[in-house]
Amino acid sequence: MSRTGRKTIALVAHDHRKVDLAEWAAFNRDILAAHELVATGTTGSILTHELGLEVETMLSGPLGGDQQLGARIAEGAVDLLIFFWDPLEAQPHDPDVRALLRIATVWNVAVATNRATADYLVSSPLLHAPYERTMPEFAGDRESSGSAA
Ligand code: PGA
Repeated sequence: MSRTGRKTIALVAHDHRKVDLAEWAAFNRDILAAHELVATGTTGSILTHELGLEVETMLSGPLGGDQQLGARIAEGAVDLLIFFWDPLEAQPHDPDVRALLRIATVWNVAVATNRATADYLVSSPLLHAPYERTMPEFAGDRESSGSAA
């Protein structure tokens, strides 16, 4: 959760959406560079090598990267999730994909699954301001559950 204007943005793109994400990230490169970036393996290396962005890279999504990002979200360490998932092709790690979207919703993380929503998110004045997400009522026992957030 961000008490400063600097956010942690998680980025994931399925294979057929990687070009789309790379184009979007190139267009918004300077905005993204002002924040902490974390991504699944292949997505992260594209952002690093094509755009020169500093990205903390997890495992590749199908090998556990989605779950690693989900864990970061549960720890309160992610503010935005830009997740260009592929609606036209079944993924071998579909349970992980669903889990990532689910846990982002549980913790009230802002999520974009397409370019239009991602554009709205990165053009929000809230991106550069301190912002404390409200936590869902069912998360009331978070402090006592060993959370690192
Ligand atoms: P990748 O993972 O960035 O390693 O390709 C994305 C995914 O398929 O979840």
